[in-house]
Amino acid sequence: MKLSTLCVQAGYTPGKGESRQMPLIQSTTFRYETSEQMARLFDLEDEGYFYTRLQNPTNDHVAARIAALEGGVGGVLTSSGQAANFYACFNICEAGGHIVAAKSIYGGTFNLLGTTLPKLGIEVTFVDQNASEEEIAKAFRPNTKLVFGETISNPGVMVLDIEKFARIAHTHGVPLIVDNTFATPINCRPFEWGADIVTHSTTKYMDGHGTTVGGVVVDSGNFDWEQNDKFPGLTTPDPSYHGLTYTRKFGKMAYTTKLVSQLMRDLGSIQAPQNAFYLNLGLQTLHLRMPQHCKNALKIAQYLHDNPYVAWVSYPDLEDDPQHALQQKYLPDGSCGVMAFGLKGGRDFSIRFMDNLKLIFIATHVADCHSCVLHPASHTHRQLTDEQLLSAGIAPDLIRLSVGIEDADDLIADIAQAIEAAERH
Ligand SMILES: *Cc1c(COP(=O)(O)O)cnc(C)c1O
Repeated sequence: MKLSTLCVQAGYTPGKGESRQMPLIQSTTFRYETSEQMARLFDLEDEGYFYTRLQNPTNDHVAARIAALEGGVGGVLTSSGQAANFYACFNICEAGGHIVAAKSIYGGTFNLLGTTLPKLGIEVTFVDQNASEEEIAKAFRPNTKLVFGETISNPGVMVLDIEKFARIAHTHGVPLIVDNTFATPINCRPFEWGADIVTHSTTKYMDGHGTTVGGVVVDSGNFDWEQNDKFPGLTTPDPSYHGLTYTRKFGKMAYTTKLVSQLMRDLGSIQAPQNAFYLNLGLQTLHLRMPQHCKNALKIAQYLHDNPYVAWVSYPDLEDDPQHALQQKYLPDGSCGVMAFGLKGGRDFSIRFMDNLKLIFIATHVADCHSCVLHPASHTHRQLTDEQLLSAGIAPDLIRLSVGIEDADDLIADIAQAIEAAERH
């Protein structure tokens, strides 16, 4: 089935007399008739719900819908995008392990990998995603367990060469995890290019309305965990389940089952069913919203590109953008609604510009139906000097613009009047 149909129907089919809309099962626990039935659930001998810290039917319907959109075998909703990336990595990489990750990823994930995972005994090497395969291969060590990148990086809007990254990962016997938040499966399905696991901050386009923080981990089911001895957590007996071995017992569902039955059981960052219900409402129109975000963003990027007050624009869909060839290959229907640009007047002019915007709000959020801007130099990274900003890869004049689904001409008029107002004082 096509993506539009999957957005509306995948993952949940009501039976006779059951609710047409995916039901919200707002319950912590589930009833069983005999203690034997319950025991079989705890031994992973039967499938079923027993406690919402591990699994809930609403969450599972929504996760199945996203897994269908990505073309994966299983998915798990998490409480946030951060939790999704943590679980995706920690499920196969623990103390003593090592991760190779693209350098230009979301700041939160950069901190997770660079600051917090090392406290758990996991080391990370960051690489330039545009470097040659030989160069990137130098980052690998015998204890490397996975490779991590973002389809479109936040906020740099760089496009990952997924095939190249998958090839390097597979040559070293490890999976490629791709955070597909900005592209969404409407614009790119990383499994089709060799990625093994996909994550999302569903907080962004998937929810799309700025209501609900959440995340998801989806497994393609394609990676062969038994090809080497790097993944003992999946391929050797788990003493906390009476010596069961995930790959033997669950085949293609090994990774997903372990994530639920170990990590959710012990760490518990599950998405609230209420949030999963809201997320689903967003998913039902994802295929309508993404083309509108892209159409608006391209029109605005072209306007900025030709505006004499604008120093530079970074948006992969622009023909002269350095990322354009990768965009044409991986995101031919459009990348996303997010772009970065700089104004010629520098920091002060940028601040006056943003303060004068009327439709486009200043917000730390990105990628929902409302347009918004952020100036990292005066917001998220305000403690840094211009020099420090540059060494962190952020131009002091960089403005991140997330284009919503309002009318593009109204947004352009707002940008034009704000530039004029900034110019006056
Ligand atoms: C926002 C974001 C995250 C973190 O997601 P939260 O839902 O805020 O925890 C991770 N990756 C990318 C690409 C993001 O944009």
